[in-house]
Amino acid sequence: MKLSKSEAAYQRACELIPGGVNSPARAFGAVGGTPIFMDRGKGPYLYDLDGNQYLDYIGSWGPLIWGHAHPEILAALEETMKRGTSFGAPTERESVLAELVIDAVPSVERVRFVNSGTEATMSAIRVARGVTKRDLIIKFAGNYHGHVDSLLVAAGSAAATLGVPNSPGVTEGTTKDTLVLEYNDVEGLQSAFDLHGDRIAGVILEPICGNMGVVVPSSPFLQALRGLTTDHGAILIFDEVMTGFRVALGGAQEVFGVTPDMTTLGKIIGGGLPVGAYGGKAEIMDQVMPAGPVFQAGTLSGNPLAVAAGYASLKKLRDEPPYEQLDQMGDRLAKGFHQAAKDAGLKTQIQRVGSMMTLFFNEEPVTGWATASKSDTEKFSKFFWGMMERGVYLPCSQYEALFFSALHKEPEIDQTIDAARETLAEIAKSK
Ligand SMILES: *Cc1c(COP(=O)(O)O)cnc(C)c1O
Repeated sequence: MKLSKSEAAYQRACELIPGGVNSPARAFGAVGGTPIFMDRGKGPYLYDLDGNQYLDYIGSWGPLIWGHAHPEILAALEETMKRGTSFGAPTERESVLAELVIDAVPSVERVRFVNSGTEATMSAIRVARGVTKRDLIIKFAGNYHGHVDSLLVAAGSAAATLGVPNSPGVTEGTTKDTLVLEYNDVEGLQSAFDLHGDRIAGVILEPICGNMGVVVPSSPFLQALRGLTTDHGAILIFDEVMTGFRVALGGAQEVFGVTPDMTTLGKIIGGGLPVGAYGGKAEIMDQVMPAGPVFQAGTLSGNPLAVAAGYASLKKLRDEPPYEQLDQMGDRLAKGFHQAAKDAGLKTQIQRVGSMMTLFFNEEPVTGWATASKSDTEKFSKFFWGMMERGVYLPCSQYEALFFSALHKEPEIDQTIDAARETLAEIAKSK
């Protein structure tokens, strides 16, 4: 594989941009080597600067459920662009997108658009605190909610203790109002509410976790979340930035039939442009300024181009739902990976919901960060590069979900399984 143009572009970028990238997830830090610079994408494929073609399994880390450069999304952008790119005044299109989101997502009666998932979660927890007039937020280890200071927190030494900063620059003062618990730990959740119940403003979680690899919540865990927050007057926030419109039109809340008080969205709702959103019950959302006192604003929020791309993408999901096909392709991919790993004699866990999936090099099923963190990341790095050499671009970390699009059909899935079969056999031989 020739990568000389990518390598040169990376050297240059490193002089100009910290680490050569504008988001650390792109830097290949967990798998070694230098990031590959992209030139363009089309359908399920990515093309790099050196002209190599890859079958794409990151989909821009989630947004591209319709693949790259979809003609209908491009047409919507072109049409909108001609009328100007930003007005700093409301447009009717924002209501059209809002209506679609409200119709699709069970918990959302009112919605506010922002520019990223980070902004959405940051705003949602502010609203939860403003509405309840309480300070504490519960989050779960291994769940990622963007780079919000108060959520960049690692678990303290004991369960149900207050969090500690996990990045320099995040102050202890900021994190002392965040409790970090283990995902799927019903007892831990119960005891946190026993100890701090009247101080807890809200609980935020990924209702299907993708950010430690794919981890599914147990039904007792979901029930405890809904029951305890209701009993204690705390706000339950589903962070569906990744799962919204990915696992079903209505997100994980539709899949599980559990309705949170608030929901955060991003990724797919922007159709590949920067959009986030947060929404919930009308009585909660009407606390947001200017309807209510909780401040939140954005110069480019509801941007015409972003809203147009988002609407084109969501409307197509609503009118021509690909979810059954995505699930069939996911099942085919998971079974293929499973058989290939088994034949190679490698112990793996394949965890999947619809078109998001992780192959963990792990002895036991992954239920939270305690089990996820036991994965063999060295084997994963070999898997990543082995797949790359065979033209399959996977997420560059054991702890990221792969995504595929509605344009990944049987031939592409089978090509991926063949690549995995060769790669896994190679890994098994080299150990
Ligand atoms: C990606 C992601 C975010 C952050 O969104 P950005 O647009 O990167 O700020 C928040 N929550 C979840 C669950 C995500 O997957």
